Amino acid sequence: MKFPQQGRPADEVIADLEAKREGDVKWADGRTFGLVYDGGPEVHEVAARAAALYLHDNALNTKAFPSLGQIQSETVGFTSQLLNGPPTAAGFLTSGGTESILCAVKAARERAKVERGVAKPQMVLAESAHAAFHKAGHLFGVEVKVAPVKPDWTADVEAMANLVTDQTVLVVGSAPQYPQGVVDPIPEIAKLAESVDANCHVDACMGGFILPFAEMLGRSIPPWDFRVDGVTSMSADIHKLGYAPKGVSVILHRTKELRRYQTFVFDNWLGGFYASPNLQGTRSGLPMAAAWAVMQHLGIDGYCRLTKSTLENADQMRSGIEAIDGIQVLGNGGLHLIAMSAAATGESAAGGPEAEVDIFALGDALQERGWYHDRQGPPDSLHSTVSNTNDGVIDQYLAALVESVAEVGGAKAADRSTSYATLE
Ligand SMILES: *Cc1c(COP(=O)(O)O)cnc(C)c1O
Repeated sequence: MKFPQQGRPADEVIADLEAKREGDVKWADGRTFGLVYDGGPEVHEVAARAAALYLHDNALNTKAFPSLGQIQSETVGFTSQLLNGPPTAAGFLTSGGTESILCAVKAARERAKVERGVAKPQMVLAESAHAAFHKAGHLFGVEVKVAPVKPDWTADVEAMANLVTDQTVLVVGSAPQYPQGVVDPIPEIAKLAESVDANCHVDACMGGFILPFAEMLGRSIPPWDFRVDGVTSMSADIHKLGYAPKGVSVILHRTKELRRYQTFVFDNWLGGFYASPNLQGTRSGLPMAAAWAVMQHLGIDGYCRLTKSTLENADQMRSGIEAIDGIQVLGNGGLHLIAMSAAATGESAAGGPEAEVDIFALGDALQERGWYHDRQGPPDSLHSTVSNTNDGVIDQYLAALVESVAEVGGAKAADRSTSYATLE
C-alpha cells in the first residue's frame, strides 16, 4: 500500500482500519487468554471518554500540563496503597511493564555505583523472571546471572545466593512470575539483596492488580510486597489486570532517595534544563488519564468484583484441565496464570506408554475453534492469562479442549516456535 499523494476521506480511512482488524484475535468474545484485559462495557466507556479528553496532551512538561502531573502522582499513590508502600514511597508512571523494569535496573545500577563504587554491575534472577530484565541488562551494561527454578517453578534462592557477589546491584523476585504464575519466595530474596546492600525489585507487573484484591477476598498469598523488609522497588502494570488501555504501568521505590537514582537531568543543552523521570521524552497524557479514570471508576470494590470472577474462571479452567487425560497444569500458583502442558497418560491397549499429546498441535486445534493461547517453553506449554474477559465462556472452552485433545491424538505440530512477540 502506498502513501497517497492526495488525502482520503475519514470514513474511508476508518473503514480500511476496520477491515484490517478482521484478521486479529477476537478478544471481545472472551476467547483470547491474555494480551487484552476487558473490564466490561462501562470500563471501556470511561476509558474512551478520558482518552478522548487527553488524546493530544503531553506529559513531558507537567508545568504546561499540571493536571497530568497530578494524575500521575495520584495514580502512583493509589497503586502504592495497593502494594502497601510506606509513606515515603515514591514512583512514576511508565509506558508499560518493560519500561518499569528498565527503570528499576537503571536505578539499581546507579545506586550501587554511587554508594558502593560498583564498576562491573551484575543482577541475579531466576530463569522465570521476565525477559525485560535481560533487555535491561543488554541496554544498561548489567551482567545477568541466572539461577534455575525449583520443581515447583519458584526461584531457587540457594542457587541465587551462589551467584551474588560484591558487584551485585539488584536481586529480582516475581509476584507472580509470568510463565507458570507462581509467587517467588520474596522474603528470602529480599534478605539476599540486603546481605550485599543491593536493591531488591519485586516484579508485580502481573500481580499488582490481582494479589491485593485476592487478599481482600480472603485468598492466602505468600508475602510479596513492600510489607517485606528489603524490597526496594516494585512494578505493577495498570494496562494488564488494572483494566486500563495499553501504555501504562507503575514503578514504585521505597523512598524518594531510591527513586532519585532512576531519573535523568541535563543542564547543558541549548534547549534548556531537561529533566525526565523515565525512558520517554514526549509522553502521551492519554494512557495515564485513562488509567486514572478506570481506577476511580472501578474503586476497590470494582476490582474485587473483577478479581473474584477472574480467579473463579481460572479455578474452573485449572480443574477442568486436570480432569482431562493427557494434559496437565504446571505448578500450583492458584492465581490467574495457567501453563498447560502434556502429561504422561496411562498404558496403551498394546501395553506401551500412551502417546503424549503434542501441546502445540493442541494449541493449533484450539485456535481453529477460535480459542487463542500464547505458546511458551521450555517446557512446551500453552499459556493463559485468565481475566474477567473470559467470564461465561470457560464451559465452552473446556468442551472445545476435550474435543481438541481427542482430535489431536499423537499428531505433532510442524511449527515449534514459541514467540511471545515479533520483530516485524
Ligand atoms: C507483562 C509482564 C512484564 C512486561 O510488561 P509489558 O507491559 O509487556 O512491557 C513484566 N513482568 C511480568 C511478570 C509480566 O507479566
